Amino acid sequence: MSDYTKMWSELGLDLKGHDALLSFLGEAYANIFLSQKNRPEGMKYFDFVMSEVHGLRIKELMDAKAQGRKVIGSFCVFVPEELILAVDGVSVGLCTGAEFNFEGAETLLPRNTCSLIKSAFGFKLGKVCPYMESSDVIVGETTCDGKKKSYELLAPLVKDLYIMDMPQMKTAMGKALLKEEYRKFIEKLEEVSGKKITVESLRKGIEVVNAKRNAVKRLAAIRAADPAPISGLDALLVNQVFFYDDPIRFTDSVNKLCDELEDRVKKGTGVFAKGTTRLLVSGCPMAVPNWKLPMLIEASNAVIVGEESCVGERGVRWLTEPTGKTVEEILDSITERYFNIDCAVFTPNPSRVEYVKEMTKKLGSHGVIHYSLQFCQPYIMESGPVEKELETSGVPTLRLETDYSQEDAGQLKTRLEAFVERLKKK
Ligand code: SF4
Ligand code: SF4
Repeated sequence: MSDYTKMWSELGLDLKGHDALLSFLGEAYANIFLSQKNRPEGMKYFDFVMSEVHGLRIKELMDAKAQGRKVIGSFCVFVPEELILAVDGVSVGLCTGAEFNFEGAETLLPRNTCSLIKSAFGFKLGKVCPYMESSDVIVGETTCDGKKKSYELLAPLVKDLYIMDMPQMKTAMGKALLKEEYRKFIEKLEEVSGKKITVESLRKGIEVVNAKRNAVKRLAAIRAADPAPISGLDALLVNQVFFYDDPIRFTDSVNKLCDELEDRVKKGTGVFAKGTTRLLVSGCPMAVPNWKLPMLIEASNAVIVGEESCVGERGVRWLTEPTGKTVEEILDSITERYFNIDCAVFTPNPSRVEYVKEMTKKLGSHGVIHYSLQFCQPYIMESGPVEKELETSGVPTLRLETDYSQEDAGQLKTRLEAFVERLKKK
């Protein structure tokens, strides 16, 4: 990697803390990803992206900013990338996947806050995230109570925190609220970018984001093959990179990877032996570098074949219909698309478990791991009924609650191995 020290200093990063984070990331990546066997050649692109995650990509963001483009950071898949692209903005997901500076985060947040939220605060207070520091606007959505209230504490720490109010029920009023919020978001984007959204710019934004989603959907479908042509870890990494790479380059790289994987399927080549136990992971999002659970699953004689998660299927499952002749009509299509997302913050949320069943069947999964982050009320509350419904439908399910620390790794591994044994005996 080139020397980016000057760029990082100008962004106001704490260089010592940042070095520590990068060295942890590099080591974890080498141990978890590069040590895998039979990886597809196409993963080299994603290895490169990860090696330059705080380097080249940040340089690209700085160059975009120098040209007058705005960087918009967000924490949730309800924030429409189409709208950001329509003002020629750059959309970045703020990763929040590492246990970094939780002591600092806990000076502001209660200890019983989920790791995802603590991570955002740990990064901000520790000044180690160049994505956060380069964002012109950060969008906070009022999904769960934890995020909603934490934004009151985050607001004084960042340049411009924009709050998007979210519906909690799938009703006509809920949909109208979402559309109104997206209309207000357009106003905000137009104000900060100085650019007006047009029918053409919106259509272009939809085209770029749909192409990106289609590429990931293609990857998801290929994973139905046995033997699995790609590991769950590598597929998760692709889904994670989705949130901050250049969208056109990303789409191209995923499609190239898919060409290779389709060839593998034809030849019967896999990363694990045919007949290996296949698992679906369902629940909270896994942001970079939250790789603990998938690593433990794939070290327990099983392969992950799908993620029912916002970093996965829930983020890409629906496309935005490119219909509508006016901005207003296109906004209807965008609202329609996003209102489908079956996040556990909605009450009730019956379509999620139905889709888990559908994915299980489609991907030939032998069982489901329900993954909740500790203190995440929406997903933990939903996990009991989801487990019951899946088990009643004949889908063995293991409910796990964990955080970003490594302390429970041994215990998790024991439970995973026992679950895999149970599936083998079926
Ligand atoms: S789980 Fe819900 S709140 Fe979290 S990113 Fe997904 S949609 Fe947003
Ligand atoms: S993991 Fe759960 S508690 Fe944490 S931010 Fe997401 S929805 Fe909220």
